[in-house]
Parts: sequence; C-alpha cells; structure tokens
Amino acid sequence: MSARIVVALVLLLCVGVAQDKAFMPFYGNAKCPIEGKDVNRKLFAEHEAQRIHVCSKDCRKKVDADLAANLAKAYPADKVVDVKNATCPCMPKAAKAEFSTVWQGHKVQFCCKKCLGRFPKQPARFLTMALNKDLVAVGNTKCPVMPEEDVEADMFILYKGKLIDLCCDSCVDDFDAAKHMKNLPAQKAPGQPGGTGGAPGTGTGGG
Ligand SMILES: [Zn+2]
Ligand SMILES: [Zn+2]
Ligand SMILES: [Zn+2]
Repeated sequence: MSARIVVALVLLLCVGVAQDKAFMPFYGNAKCPIEGKDVNRKLFAEHEAQRIHVCSKDCRKKVDADLAANLAKAYPADKVVDVKNATCPCMPKAAKAEFSTVWQGHKVQFCCKKCLGRFPKQPARFLTMALNKDLVAVGNTKCPVMPEEDVEADMFILYKGKLIDLCCDSCVDDFDAAKHMKNLPAQKAPGQPGGTGGAPGTGTGGG
C-alpha cells in the first residue's frame, strides 16, 4: 500500500519537474547561519554582492554583527561547487580558470578581466547562464509583465529555455506566459548555416 503511494508521489514529482513553468532560480543558502533553520527567501543581508539569507527578522538584525563570518557560514568554502563552465556567460568565448570568482558557493569562470568585472552587477544572471549552456537570453529591455517599465539588473525568470528580464519582484510572481510572452521583442532566428549542430529537431513552436 505505502509503496504504491510512494510510487505515485515520485511520478507526480517527475511530472512537476517536466512542466514548463516560469521560475526564478534561487542560489541562496538553505539554512539560517544564526539559528540553522530553513531560510525565508525574501529575508537576507548583503555582503560583497552576496546574499546571506536568514529565517526571521530577528536573525536579519543579528547577522549584521559580523557579515563576513556569517557569509562564510552560509556558504562554506569546502562546499563550493565548481561550475566548470567552458563558455564565458558574458559572451560566446572560451572561459579561462584564471578569470574566475566564487559567488554564493559557486565558482564561475569568464573569458577576460572585463567580463569578470561585470559579474557583480548581475551575479545570479551570469551564474544561470554558466550553469545552463543552452539557455537563450532574450535580452529584452522592457518588462513583459509591465511593458512600460525598464528591466532591473538580476531580476529575471526562466521559461522554456529562455531567460527573460523583468522589472521587479512582483512581476516574477505575476508572470503568465499566455498573457506576457507576446510583449517580448520578436526573437531573431539564429539562421546561421552549420551553426549549432546536434540539437534534437524539436520545433521551436513559431506561429
Ligand atoms: Zn535565523
Ligand atoms: Zn570576456
Ligand atoms: Zn515589475
């Protein structure tokens, strides 16, 4: 009986993952460095362009006492994940180990000093690009949810293999593909002969 329930649950989870639902990736620490409880994703302190998530407003105050120590506790040095991205997340060039940085427990590498310097302006976006080499950044400058508004740095969602920039937090929750995808600029077809081969020929659903 219970085994059957477990199987049903696993199946449900698999279906959930397979769904093309828009989401914003979360790279923050899971446990509060003050109390060790699960963090509130909306509560955090910032230190050196990195977010230290905490579980409560009380911990949010306490974390300020030693930001550097709490940052180190939130992302232990011995648990850093080396992304080993072959391509620079800034531009289509080979990434080199000499231009690397560690951000919120992830080691990312870039093609040059300039790209490395750009990283702190939108770290989550660059990490996302480094982790998902097939992701296409739409590069929209206006928010598709509130089309009057300019997009904000490091505010984005992933939807069906696309990275879409947004103007604010609430648009992350409000994004509805059926309503808002049409507000994005038309994507130029990559139409380069012999470009990226080997992609399975699943139609890109145009028209
Ligand atoms: Zn806490
Ligand atoms: Zn570069
Ligand atoms: Zn917005």
